[in-house]
Amino acid sequence: MDETPFGDDTLHEECGVFGIFQRADAAAVVTLGLHALQHRGQEAAGIVSYDGMQFHVERHAGLIGDTFTKAAVLERLPGTAAIGHTRYATTGGGGLRNVQPFFAELSAGGFAVAHNGNITNAMTVQRELQRRGSIFSSTSDTETILHLVATSGARMFVDKLIDALSRLEGAFSLVGLSANTMFGVRDPLGIRPLVLGDLEGAPILASETCALDIIGAEFVRDLEAGEMVVITEDGIESVFPFQARRARFCIFEYVYFARPDSNVEGRNVYDIRKKIGIELAKESHVAADVVVPVPDSGVPAAIGYSQEAGLPFELGIIRNHYVGRTFIQPTDSIRHMGVKLKHNANRKMIEGKRVILVDDSIVRGTTSQKIVRMVREAGASEVHMRIASPPTSASCFYGVDTPEKAKLLASRMSIEEMAEFIQVDSLAFLSIDGLYRACGEASRSKIAPQFCDACFTGDYPTALTDQDGADNVRQLSLLGGAG
Ligand code: AMP
Repeated sequence: MDETPFGDDTLHEECGVFGIFQRADAAAVVTLGLHALQHRGQEAAGIVSYDGMQFHVERHAGLIGDTFTKAAVLERLPGTAAIGHTRYATTGGGGLRNVQPFFAELSAGGFAVAHNGNITNAMTVQRELQRRGSIFSSTSDTETILHLVATSGARMFVDKLIDALSRLEGAFSLVGLSANTMFGVRDPLGIRPLVLGDLEGAPILASETCALDIIGAEFVRDLEAGEMVVITEDGIESVFPFQARRARFCIFEYVYFARPDSNVEGRNVYDIRKKIGIELAKESHVAADVVVPVPDSGVPAAIGYSQEAGLPFELGIIRNHYVGRTFIQPTDSIRHMGVKLKHNANRKMIEGKRVILVDDSIVRGTTSQKIVRMVREAGASEVHMRIASPPTSASCFYGVDTPEKAKLLASRMSIEEMAEFIQVDSLAFLSIDGLYRACGEASRSKIAPQFCDACFTGDYPTALTDQDGADNVRQLSLLGGAG
């Protein structure tokens, strides 16, 4: 067993949130919204609805399409307001008790919360609360929010929530539901996305715009960093309860995480990924015959690359869509197997050719190693790997599933060593400024970086209280992230 704080990856989750207010069949709409956000988490999902009298809670392991589409499940979720969450936790994490939304009957009334991101001082706050008598029923950092709301001395519910969230560090984009109000909040840096939508007058909160598209809802706007929206029968009120800070949206959402058909913070994700490919070709082109993406994550960047380089784009690797994402399988051996199940070389497009392979990122290097071997076995005469992001050299503490630093290939090898490890003729990564240029910035500002890019730079924009407290290290592996 790994002794390091992130040894078993239990901390890291990837999540999507969705909520709708004042709409018949609210839970059915949330189901559809969560289905569009399935890429943000595949392990489990939950929905909480409110029917005007009481709250109803359903939480299930598995994919939305296999669980919440059953009529009986939706019948148990009546009401015109509902929020939901889709979650991935790599291993452990306590099963259903950690599945969100979390719900509690507080002295101020029922309250449900669903959270995307990771709170970096949850363990510290949790221990403090436990010393004062709080009893936690999960190992998720999100439960901390409920306890902080429950113990707040503020009079109005909204002030209790503000009070609670002001105690937290890290990333949180969340939706909350009380008897007559739906809340949407982004942390002061706006690290994770959250948008406001509208379905024929019913307000919606969703992690990404793709969830609005599939139900025919209109995009209203992104919530701003540090903004709280308070949605009641009377309308939508916006407040900025936290100390103002310069926003630092997660740049990895553009590289990999968000769906390409989403618009995030005013930018279309697919468009950014193509521009990333263009920058990559400008920075590190090499003579070759064909550009081949590692599907699906490398496709838009490979299109941009091939257009910029004037080389043919071919699907030289075919992906089997009925296999989950390889990266997030729990054990190394399964992860290896997953890669074989997932991709197959399309020999006709590769044989005898100098191939430029494009993928979005290298994490442990497992995927690249397998893919390169496969492409060579299919007869490529040269294999050049081009990566559509800088080397991933630091762990994410804000809700994206990355392994501990020691397992990141780029944290222990130079680029030449990585090239040797994955057996390519050449390897190049996009520069950090190239990534910023693709996102519409002239370069990365050294004084005030425009994004959170901690996974590439190690520059963490918030305190990491739980990590910094040495006595927390042992317990960290017990506390799951929120996703
Ligand atoms: P690895 O095999 O560990 O190097 O993983 C690299 C592959 O995982 C790339 O093809 C990425 O598309 C994908 N990937 C990168 N980051 C993540 C993540 N946080 N969750 C799931 N997959 C990821």
